[in-house]
Amino acid sequence: MNSLSDIAGVLKAAKRLVFTGHVMPDGDCIGSMLALGLVMEREDKEVVFVSPGPLPSIYRFLPGVERIKVSPSLPEMTGDGPGLVVIVDTSVPARLGDFLPVIEELQHSGYRTVLLDHHISALPYADVNYIDPDASAVGEIVFDLIKMLGHEIDKTIATCLYVTVATDTGGFRYETTTPQTHRKVADLIEAGIDVRAISLQIFEEKPLKSFKVLSTVLNTLELSPCGRIGWFTLNLATANHLEVEDEHIDGVVNYARQVRGVEIALLFREVEGGYVKVSFRSKNYVDVSKLAGEFGGGGHPRAAGALVKGNIDKIKKAVLDAGMMFLEQAGTGN
Ligand code: AMP
Ligand code: MN
Ligand code: MN
Repeated sequence: MNSLSDIAGVLKAAKRLVFTGHVMPDGDCIGSMLALGLVMEREDKEVVFVSPGPLPSIYRFLPGVERIKVSPSLPEMTGDGPGLVVIVDTSVPARLGDFLPVIEELQHSGYRTVLLDHHISALPYADVNYIDPDASAVGEIVFDLIKMLGHEIDKTIATCLYVTVATDTGGFRYETTTPQTHRKVADLIEAGIDVRAISLQIFEEKPLKSFKVLSTVLNTLELSPCGRIGWFTLNLATANHLEVEDEHIDGVVNYARQVRGVEIALLFREVEGGYVKVSFRSKNYVDVSKLAGEFGGGGHPRAAGALVKGNIDKIKKAVLDAGMMFLEQAGTGN
């Protein structure tokens, strides 16, 4: 693993920068790449932004968001000099989706790669890696990096960074929220951000479709006999009928976690190509990044995911069995 000053050095040396993140981008992913990218542009560098997946509409208000090209291909770059791909919030190469082969091509043409991440399950797959599982969001790392680079965090940058932290901490409710998180957020508020306006955008308004999807999925809730695992199911036929997009289902799994007595909450969502996307959440003590790891996924101790190929009923049974094992091993967590 490299130090933050290694990262600062690599960023300084680069002339052409490509910022990217994971499929199904979220507030941390989008806000972190914008904050750091917009700052680097102030240093007379060529900066482009690429997302391997569509951006949820709730982030459309972010400054610079129109610059993000949603495509597996690279926008045209006109400059020359050392090239760098900066990957944020993406724990494993597979989460780069269709942009992964493009990055590999860039590496062949001399670009270096940097990874900034905070997932406990992250792999150091880039040329230069900075992974801090104690950071509540990659935005916290970017905050430190921008200061180290000697740049001011003005209202534009602060707005992007506030979104990273507010979304990844679930509105400052998860145990990843530290005194340091709040100190940084105090600085962001002092930079003049409009906390109320941002909160309205990211927490208090959703497309109508989200509520239709929510009402359908809530009806699928099932509980294990012990009441400690709760799960939702969204099969492909229903998803297609409702024309569900990623952003409509985001956060729905958290409702299963809210059921009194539930420790592990799951969402099984059939997607195209014979895959099931499993979302894992835990309330207090089960490390779901490890549970998701048993199925080829990963994430954080209280929020993780996996994309599993196969029959949904078989996958469900395997995940529920593994979940029961994790519960037994963890005892009651007391
Ligand atoms: P989600 O359930 O999609 O909201 O994802 C919850 C957390 O798990 C996020 O922090 C993701 O970065 C992580 N995650 C989701 N899917 C995967 C996957 N297939 N592999 C590794 N990590 C994942
Ligand atoms: Mn993310
Ligand atoms: Mn994150």
